[in-house]
Amino acid sequence: MPSVADILIPLALDNAYSYAVPAGLILAPGDVVQVPLGPRETVGVVWQVSESPGGSNLRPVTGRVEAPPLSDSLRELVDWLARYTLAPKGSALAMALRLPDEAARSETSRIGVRASGKPPARPTAARMKVLAVAADGTMRGKSALAKEAGVSLSVVDGLIDDGALEAVALAPEPVALPPDPDHARVPLSEAQAEASQNLIDLAFPSAEGEGAPKAPTVLLEGVTGSGKTEVYFEAVAEAVRRGHQALILMPEIALTAQFLGRFAERFGVRPATWHSGIGAKRRERLRAGVAAGEVSVVVGARSALFLPFADLGLVVVDEEHEAAYKQEDGVHYHARDMAVVRGRLENCPVVLASATPSIETKVNAEKGRYAHIVLPERFGGRRLPDIHAIDMRLDKPEKGRFIAPPLVNAVRATIEAGDQALLFLNRRGYAPLTLCRACGHRYQCRNCSTWLVEHRFRRALVCHQCGYAERRPEACTECGTFDNLTPCGPGVERIAEEVAALFPDKRVIVLSSDFPGGAERLRAELQSVADGDCDIVIGTQLVAKGHNFPHLTLVGVLDADIGLTSGDPRAAERTFQLLQQVTGRAGRGERPGRALVQTYQPDHPVIAALLSGDATRFYEEEIAAREAAGLPPFGRLAALIVSANERDVAEAHGQALARAAEPPDGVMVLGPAEAPLALIRGRYRFRLLVKTERAVDLQTYLRDWLKRGPKVRGNVKVAIDVDPQSF
Ligand code: ADP
Ligand code: ZN
Repeated sequence: MPSVADILIPLALDNAYSYAVPAGLILAPGDVVQVPLGPRETVGVVWQVSESPGGSNLRPVTGRVEAPPLSDSLRELVDWLARYTLAPKGSALAMALRLPDEAARSETSRIGVRASGKPPARPTAARMKVLAVAADGTMRGKSALAKEAGVSLSVVDGLIDDGALEAVALAPEPVALPPDPDHARVPLSEAQAEASQNLIDLAFPSAEGEGAPKAPTVLLEGVTGSGKTEVYFEAVAEAVRRGHQALILMPEIALTAQFLGRFAERFGVRPATWHSGIGAKRRERLRAGVAAGEVSVVVGARSALFLPFADLGLVVVDEEHEAAYKQEDGVHYHARDMAVVRGRLENCPVVLASATPSIETKVNAEKGRYAHIVLPERFGGRRLPDIHAIDMRLDKPEKGRFIAPPLVNAVRATIEAGDQALLFLNRRGYAPLTLCRACGHRYQCRNCSTWLVEHRFRRALVCHQCGYAERRPEACTECGTFDNLTPCGPGVERIAEEVAALFPDKRVIVLSSDFPGGAERLRAELQSVADGDCDIVIGTQLVAKGHNFPHLTLVGVLDADIGLTSGDPRAAERTFQLLQQVTGRAGRGERPGRALVQTYQPDHPVIAALLSGDATRFYEEEIAAREAAGLPPFGRLAALIVSANERDVAEAHGQALARAAEPPDGVMVLGPAEAPLALIRGRYRFRLLVKTERAVDLQTYLRDWLKRGPKVRGNVKVAIDVDPQSF
């Protein structure tokens, strides 16, 4: 009987398609193959192979593709991801199958060239320059040789064609050097030693194989500066000693030069890194190296979760509470949750590390679903910063100023003592709103329901939602009068202006994602802050997290209340985490630190918990509130965002969906209501919220509902977001 292969294609398709397997081709689930799809050829993955009498009517598989096959557990992960997020299965596969383009695949070996001794047919000046450089007999890369001789690559190619240069294929460089688990073991504090021993005992129980306990998920909770990294490095080292692979997930990989340096100090080599910024060619080699088990440690952004590890022995999710782990377009998945799933499928331990764990993880630890290891104190006897509020109702700055007098004095004292101060404001640009004092016109994005943010260095008004930008006008575009446009409220650029006026001779750095010059320059700036080469840092959340600035002893939070006023049930958690993180930047070096927090509501539970340093109380209250409201993790939540080019069309589709909801017991459907951002990029958005009890199978309910619901027509789109992070 002919064989039939069900092939899943990495496009937005829900099911695998059946193809005939030609005689002589033996396929197994997970193999990567080429198949015809309509008029084209495409790549897919074998999901299932069966014997079937109908097979002869099917189009045949074209052939096998040179690529690591997808393991059983990786295919299970894809199935799980698609089921949980309701994304098309093919879209879920695309996450795990980032194949390189043709160009990257064909260029697999490096070519070296050297002089052959044969004279060139046409001895032009350019050619002679190349041969003069090559005369020393050294093997060079083609472009290196062209560069050294100061000629274009085509001159070198011409000489190869001529036979005056010989081209030799070089062995590829290894994609990553093996980390040495015992390269430079740091002496751990007593607390760290105990924590790492606990972690290793949990993660690598002495009995392996049959009858061994299931690999655990462990919450590693330690205050900022407690030395969590060294603790989980011990577990990474142990995984490597046992010949397993380890994955360390990071929220913002581009900004972790400091982390990579620390890894190199501990393990002797820099780890292999995986993120969207690496080239296709390197990406493919890394995938192959990971699949072959040659790459033993990967540090990566969330998509590294889908790498084809041969023998994954440990996953660490650093800063597990970070919102950046949630992918908000395409397949809406949360990398921390998927890491736990992958750990379960591979029977591999997962460590979630944070100073401010998410409510979900905290509850899982309390209920005993996760093991819990705590580092309650800072490393080296350092104290956590003292945190004080500046009540902005009493200590107002002058009109048009944003830094209150007590904070100005504290900054002055800090830099006079030779230390650094950080002023934190989570708002890019100069001013979040521009208003005409004559006619009252407010500058709004033409594509989105957002105010345009003034960026003074760029002399532009910019939409932070869609990137739309226009020149800041000289006269009001509505009433035509001059000198009436007024910036309202501060962004970091405006704070920089104020600081320059207050401290004209001090070295100031402004750090936000607008930083000119790209990631490379930004990294250099962060390093110069760490080296103490500046007095005052003004920054957004970009500087709030993860960095170690040893000279920093004062953190000033300019507006602690941003974020508390939104209707989002996660607002309290988010704000608490961010403020804990940013104040935790102070006093990580030799000298103790302190933080001053400007607020209009010092009695708000979030601010009060921050000031008292009583995180336990914050978590208790927040968990109780979530439980009372049936919100995650005590209930389940999904958002359906209906969007269309016309407002009426989006709303009508949302209403038709609501009519088809038929919620059973334990399910509540709210909306449609205008989404918090009702217009983005010219698309009108309405939102339905689905809240269910924990026992309800949310995915099955959603699937059935969408099947019953109205057909999606024209430019209408329905995006499903299970476990939305903000709403
Ligand atoms: P966390 O991630 O918990 O905020 P880190 O792991 O970044 O803390 O450690 C805080 C600081 O203490 C870092 O500068 C780190 O180099 C230092 N540190 C931590 N553990 C040790 C140790 N055992 N020996 C020397 N320095 C350490
Ligand atoms: Zn916009």
